[in-house]
Amino acid sequence: MTAPTPSSLPHDGPHARVVVVGSTNADLLARVAAHPAPGETILGERLDVLPGGKGANQAVAAARLGSPTALVGAVGDDAFAEPALAGLREAGVDLSALAVRTGRTGVALVSVSADGENSIVVIPGVNATVDADAVRAHHDVIGRAAVVVLQGEIPRAGIEEAARAARGRLVVNLAPVIDVDTEVLLAADPLVVNEHEAALVAHALGAADGSGNGAAAPAAEDGSDEAVVTALLARGVPSVVMTLGARGALVGAGDLLEQVPTPRVDAVDTTGAGDAFVGALAHGLAGGDDLVTAARLAARVGAYAVRSVGAQSSYPGLGDELPEVT
Ligand code: ADP
Repeated sequence: MTAPTPSSLPHDGPHARVVVVGSTNADLLARVAAHPAPGETILGERLDVLPGGKGANQAVAAARLGSPTALVGAVGDDAFAEPALAGLREAGVDLSALAVRTGRTGVALVSVSADGENSIVVIPGVNATVDADAVRAHHDVIGRAAVVVLQGEIPRAGIEEAARAARGRLVVNLAPVIDVDTEVLLAADPLVVNEHEAALVAHALGAADGSGNGAAAPAAEDGSDEAVVTALLARGVPSVVMTLGARGALVGAGDLLEQVPTPRVDAVDTTGAGDAFVGALAHGLAGGDDLVTAARLAARVGAYAVRSVGAQSSYPGLGDELPEVT
C-alpha cells in the first residue's frame, strides 16, 4: 500500500455530469457472527480493506452505471489512501478535484454480522479538510454539473459552499444528519434520507422556522412515513426521497406522494446500500429521468448492493442484471 502523489491522479476528462462533493474512506470490514456487547471481545471471521466513504461510494455507483462523474474531496498521504481510491479509479471517476493532503485518510471500522446488520465507527481524517475554501477551489467543476450530490460526512461549511456553487440539480443525502444552513435543505431536489434521518431533519426544520409543528406543516412526530415526508415538503424542501430498506422508498414532490417498491432479495450486507441508491438516483436524474423513475432504478440498484459484501464492491456495472420487482 503506497500513498498516491497528486501527479498520479488523472487531471483531464470530459465535464462530469454528476459531481459528488464528499467523503472518501478506507473501510476496514470485519465479518462477525454477532456484534460484541460493550466490554466484550469476540473473534471475527475475516478482515477486508475496501474502498468506502459516502461520497466515494455514491460517485462509484453513478460512474459504474455510465454517468461521467467527478469527486470533490480529499485523501491523506498515508497507506490507506490507495485502498480508498481503488474503486474510484476502477470506475473511471474523475479525481482531478480530489486533493491529497498531509494527514490520515478517512477510515471506517465496519463489522457485519451473520444476519447482514452492520455497525460502523468513522474516523474522518482529512475529510475534515473539505471545507468552504477547499470546495471554492472547484466551483467550475461543480457549476458545470447536471447533478451535484452532497452528504453529511464533510464539514458543514463545505456542504454549504457546494450548495451555493451548484447550478444543476442538487441531491442532498443528509447522512449522517448534521446541522446545515436551512438554505441547503430548501435547495435539495431531492433530499434523500432514511426514516431515522427524515424524522431528525423534519424536527430540525420545524425548530429552524420558529413555528414548532405549526398548522402549515403536519407534525413529523405523529408517526407515519407519509406524515414525515409531507412535513418536510410543507417546510419548503422541494422534493424528498425517504429510503425504507426492504420496503423500498417513498417519493414526495408537490402533491405527489408515491411508494416505490424494491426487489425482494436475500440481504447479505446492507453496507453502502443507501449510497448505491443515491448514486443511481443521481445517474437517473442526470440522464433526464423524472424523480419517481430515477427512484425506481435506485431501489433496484440498492437491492443489488445488499446481495454481496462491501459497499463499492457490491455495486452493479453497466452489464450487470438488476433484480426485478415482483
Ligand atoms: P440506509 O442504508 O441509508 O439506511 P436503506 O437501508 O433504506 O438505506 O437502503 C437504501 C435502499 O436500498 C432501499 O431504499 C432499498 O431500495 C435498498 N435496500 C436496502 N435494504 C434492502 C433489502 N433488505 N432488500 C431489498 N432492498 C433493500
